[in-house]
Amino acid sequence: MNTKSDSKNVLVLNSGSSSVKYTLFDLSLNRIAKGSVERIGSAEAFIVTDTREVCNVPDHNTAVELVLNKLFSNVIKDKNDIVAIGHRVVHGGEKLTLPSVVTEEIKDEIRKCFNLAPLHNPHNLSGILACEKLLPGISNIAVFDTAFYQTIPQYAYLYALPYYLYKKHNIRRYGFHGISHQFVAEKTAELLNEPLNKLKLITCHLGNGCSITATKYGAPVDTSMGFTPLEGLIMGTRCGDMDPTIVSFISTSENMSLNDVNKLLTSQSGLYGISGISNDMRTLTEESEKGNERAKIAIEMFCYRVKKYIGSYSAALNGADAIVFTAGIGENSPTVRQKCIEKLDKIGIEFDASLNKETRQGLISKKDSPVKALVVPTNEELMIAKQVITLTNN
Ligand code: ADP
Repeated sequence: MNTKSDSKNVLVLNSGSSSVKYTLFDLSLNRIAKGSVERIGSAEAFIVTDTREVCNVPDHNTAVELVLNKLFSNVIKDKNDIVAIGHRVVHGGEKLTLPSVVTEEIKDEIRKCFNLAPLHNPHNLSGILACEKLLPGISNIAVFDTAFYQTIPQYAYLYALPYYLYKKHNIRRYGFHGISHQFVAEKTAELLNEPLNKLKLITCHLGNGCSITATKYGAPVDTSMGFTPLEGLIMGTRCGDMDPTIVSFISTSENMSLNDVNKLLTSQSGLYGISGISNDMRTLTEESEKGNERAKIAIEMFCYRVKKYIGSYSAALNGADAIVFTAGIGENSPTVRQKCIEKLDKIGIEFDASLNKETRQGLISKKDSPVKALVVPTNEELMIAKQVITLTNN
């Protein structure tokens, strides 16, 4: 099939540890193509477009090359029809606070954040380097997951550590999933038919990684992920909040290096660690319904942590106008949403169980609930494309 478009386009790339996801938009933000290369580096690597094809993909450069070959053979005429490439970059540190055209200095700053987001930043940069090589002359624009959080006040982003550690090493809360929280906040305003600068929102991004953000009149005031994406909610394999003394305690009592303890907290904990079965909420829901006690407690703990954050962010905002659920779990699990927000009527959330079961996008609280609750599917790629177009127009 050959349906090559005449339009100019923006390509958005999300380069992860073993996958490169791509979306092509025209300049009116219509989606033209979408797909991914997955299991990079393994013998079972494949590319998904309209179909799924097994390929040899040893590295990210090959993955991007495959994506471009697909696009050039089916969707776009040549590289000049790509106005710019937007890249999701997870950690921008204190310096990278706006979408930025990638230069040598920007790449150096992204590298400086490698140790803060080791699961993400190195792969994000690989995607950029591959595009520089394969599409010379086309602008690469980095959009940072941390950038949305620039408005968080100092009393919320500082840790209660000796102040010199902040000055010397920039140890502070950065916040992540900003691209998603910003998209969802804007979309919620649209759905509620209210201007964003009049709304106080609590957005819950519940995917493999989970975070919750309080946004007041369009600007975030607090968020659950911190110095790294490990803090806050319980996640697929990440522990979220806990007493920091546990780190040295495990290191001593299990005879593990600090590095190994870090790995345990990042990739062996969370839903997976508690249940001992899976990091996948679908599996845990099924197992819990069959009576598996550890799957059940993992889900209880997950939802209770979300509920506690909703309570504390309601206080931070002096009352929210709406609580919003997004990402894999937030969009697809009525069970989890119910456990997170039922019995919160004393803080104004009047939950509607039947709307919650049916709704794909929109209200899950009673229509006249003082605090609304909604489901809003996220679209990080669209948010990146929007920011790329704004930057290139300027
Ligand atoms: P990522 O952070 O990798 O982008 P996603 O946003 O895709 O993750 O979310 C992945 C999570 O969403 C997994 O825990 C998965 O089990 C969960 N999920 C997806 N669909 C459902 C569903 N129908 N019910 C419960 N959980 C779901």
